[in-house]
Amino acid sequence: MYFDSTGDIFYKASGVDSVRNCCHRCLNKDKTLFYEFYSRLHQKKVKYCLNCIGLGRSDSATPLMALESTARKEKCGYSLHFELTEIQKEASGRVVKAIREGENLLLHAVTGAGKTEIIFEGIRYARENGLNVAVVSPRIDVVKELHLRLGGAFKKSRIDLMFAGVKVKFDHHFTVCTVHQLYNFIGHFDCIIVDEFDAFPLAGDWNLQGAIAKAMTEAGILIIMTATPTRRMLKMTDGNVFRIARRYHGHDLTIPAVHYADIRKGIKKGRLDAKLKRLLEAIIMNDRKVLVFFPDIKMMHQVHGLMTESFDGVETVHSGDAGRYGKVERMREGGIRILLTTTILERGVTFKDLDVIVVHTEYFPSDTLIQICGRVGRKPQDPSGSIHLLTLYNTRHIQAAIRKIKAFNKGRAVL
Ligand SMILES: [Zn+2]
Repeated sequence: MYFDSTGDIFYKASGVDSVRNCCHRCLNKDKTLFYEFYSRLHQKKVKYCLNCIGLGRSDSATPLMALESTARKEKCGYSLHFELTEIQKEASGRVVKAIREGENLLLHAVTGAGKTEIIFEGIRYARENGLNVAVVSPRIDVVKELHLRLGGAFKKSRIDLMFAGVKVKFDHHFTVCTVHQLYNFIGHFDCIIVDEFDAFPLAGDWNLQGAIAKAMTEAGILIIMTATPTRRMLKMTDGNVFRIARRYHGHDLTIPAVHYADIRKGIKKGRLDAKLKRLLEAIIMNDRKVLVFFPDIKMMHQVHGLMTESFDGVETVHSGDAGRYGKVERMREGGIRILLTTTILERGVTFKDLDVIVVHTEYFPSDTLIQICGRVGRKPQDPSGSIHLLTLYNTRHIQAAIRKIKAFNKGRAVL
């Protein structure tokens, strides 16, 4: 079933049990994640859950209504404007097999392997057999992109879309949503496909992993897609792994170059670090664009001030930036040449003719570095690009990232 205020199933008399501090929707039992206020409307104190407030309020004064799950077979065609590569076809076959035989699956695909297209055939199989499918991601950007790509391919399907305030609801046979939205479902989906499983905030959030389990039917299966798998993901998918160590255009991943530099020192002296400046000049001269990653917002803004003295078309972007999507669009169109960013753009974005610079790389974990490196060379017309890691010293994480990228290029994959 799934929660819906228009539903006719009376699931609980209230969404929140205010005495026992428990939210019936998201199963939150953390006392600190409830808020109580006096409601004039109800003439009493009302307690609501902060953990799932993003889905609309679950509180102690409103009953939790639900709708019964339904299943429906449907003819489910899709269009694909290119032919899958041999390895993509093989991966696609494994996805279908996993759904048909009720197995969990970990799809370990290098960044830029064309993951989304790989799940099309599996979705078609599921829908034609009346299975309910959810394609989810922890990140709103990724959910939007998935919906765009799936909607473009499955033109005749009615795809539910849910994230933050956006809700396009049909009957939840084929749903694209954030992992948070899965709190709304109990035993509903026969197949849940999680894209970018490793992305914040899912990786460390047990509660959300519980949401996936709760939203799934008893015989339901989980398919995890990631470029950076962990042992936990392997465990969740019973060690059933399919690896794609090549990008769809067949070229190697770019190996990053490591440079020693102290950008902070330059900031203190009020000037742009000479090495960083030279790298930027070379990139602009070659008529390319660059994403410059920073470990924190403050440093990013300081360097931005210094950069604008020497370069045009420099902008910054971070998670709290309301103009973020517009800036990404302007970067695509060429109005912005140098985009300074926090790790918010580590995944989900593709630009043509892109190079990447990471500043003070010693602060970055290896999984983040692998994602960042995956931004370059995604287009067949520009399959390489360059990556520069500026760092105070060589870290274990830098070494691990380079080792894993090299292993991928050799057709091996390491955890
Ligand atoms: Zn809740």
